[in-house]
Amino acid sequence: MNNNSRFAIDERIVISHDPDIRKAFDNLTESDRRLVELFKQHDSLLIKPNLVLPRTYAVTNLELIDELCRLGEAHGTKLEIIEFPGLEFNPNVVENYLQLKKFTQKYNVRIDLNPKRFKTLHIPGKHLKRISVVEDYLCKPWINVFKIKTHVLSTVTLAIKNTMGILGYDTRQDIHINGINKALMDVAGAFRPAYNLAEGYPAMDGNGPWVGRLRPVNILVGGTDMTQLDLFLVRNVMKIRTDKIDYLRGRQAQSQAIGDTALLSEITPFKEPEVSRFYVAAFNSMYLVDKPFFPLFKRHFNQFLYSSRFFGTKPVIRDKTLVKELNDVCRFGAVDHANARIDYHKCTLCMECVDAHSEAFKITSIARRRFKLSTRGNQPVSEE
Ligand code: SF4
Repeated sequence: MNNNSRFAIDERIVISHDPDIRKAFDNLTESDRRLVELFKQHDSLLIKPNLVLPRTYAVTNLELIDELCRLGEAHGTKLEIIEFPGLEFNPNVVENYLQLKKFTQKYNVRIDLNPKRFKTLHIPGKHLKRISVVEDYLCKPWINVFKIKTHVLSTVTLAIKNTMGILGYDTRQDIHINGINKALMDVAGAFRPAYNLAEGYPAMDGNGPWVGRLRPVNILVGGTDMTQLDLFLVRNVMKIRTDKIDYLRGRQAQSQAIGDTALLSEITPFKEPEVSRFYVAAFNSMYLVDKPFFPLFKRHFNQFLYSSRFFGTKPVIRDKTLVKELNDVCRFGAVDHANARIDYHKCTLCMECVDAHSEAFKITSIARRRFKLSTRGNQPVSEE
C-alpha cells in the first residue's frame, strides 16, 4: 500500500449531471467538498487522466482536465499530469495530438507522458508478486480521472483499469499475459488514489476503448474508493453484469449515491464488447513476444505491428473516388488523395478522417464486429 492510504475512505458516491461538463464539475465540487479539500490541503497533487491514445473521444475529456487545473490555480496547488499511453502508441504523438502543452502554458502544469523513474512494489497478489510503479505515484496524493468506457479485453475500463497507466511496461506486459481482469485484482489493492472521478462526456460502449460507440451520458461520478466506484458504475451506469469482471465478482456495494441520481434510470444498458476468444488470446500473446522483442529493438512489438498496414485497428479507404475528390483531410499528411492511399508510417491513428468523412473512410479491426463507429460529434449511432 502506498502512502496515499493515509486518506480516509468514505462511502459516498457523488453524481453530477449537466449537458455542459464545466457546469457539472461546478455542481460536483459544490456537493462533494472532499475534492476541494484536497486542493486546499495539498501544495501539490498528481492528476492521472486516461490519455491512452491519440483520439479525442477516447481519452479523458480535456475540458475536465482544464477544470482541475483551474481549481489547482485557484488554491495555489501545483499540479502534475503523469500518464503512460498504451504501449502501442508513441507518447510524443499522443502529447502533440492532444495539444497538452496548453496546460503547461496556461497553468504551469508539468506534463509527463513518458515517465522514467520507477519503483518496484512487492505485493501479496495471486497473479502478480511485484509491480513497477511510476515513482511519483508512490509519494504524492493523486486524482484518478477516467472516461466511462467498455474494453474489448477487460469488458470495462474504469478507476481500477486506469491505474495501468502508472505501471512500468514490464508490469503491463505481465498484466496482459495473466489476463487483465485477473491481474487487476492484485493491482486494485495496491493503490488508493485520493479521489476518483469518472466522466461520460461522452462515454463509450461496444468495442471500446478506442473505436467503440459514443454514449453522451453527460455525467460525472466521484468517489474515494476505486472498487466501490467501479462497482457502482458497472451496475448503475453501464448496467453490465459484475460477475463478468474478476475484480468485481462477489463484491458488495457499500456506497451511498447522492446528487443527480434520477438520471440513472434514463441511461439504457451499455453494449458489451463482442470479440472472439481468439482475438483476446492473440492480443495478449503479443506481450509474450514483446518481452524479448523490446530489449532487442527498443520498440514494442505491437507498436511495430501497428505501423505496418497489415495489423491493428486503423483507418482504411471506403470509397476511392470520394477520397480523390477530397482535399487535405489529414493534418498529418498521411492521406495521398491523388492515389487514394493512406501512408501508415505517417498515420497517428487519430481517426479524424473517419469522424469527418465516414462515407470515404472506415475503421478496420479484427475486434470490431457488430458496432459501427460513432461519427460526427457525440451522437450515438445505431448498430449494424
Ligand atoms: S489518416 Fe486518418 S487516422 Fe491517420 S492520421 Fe490522418 S486523419 Fe488520423
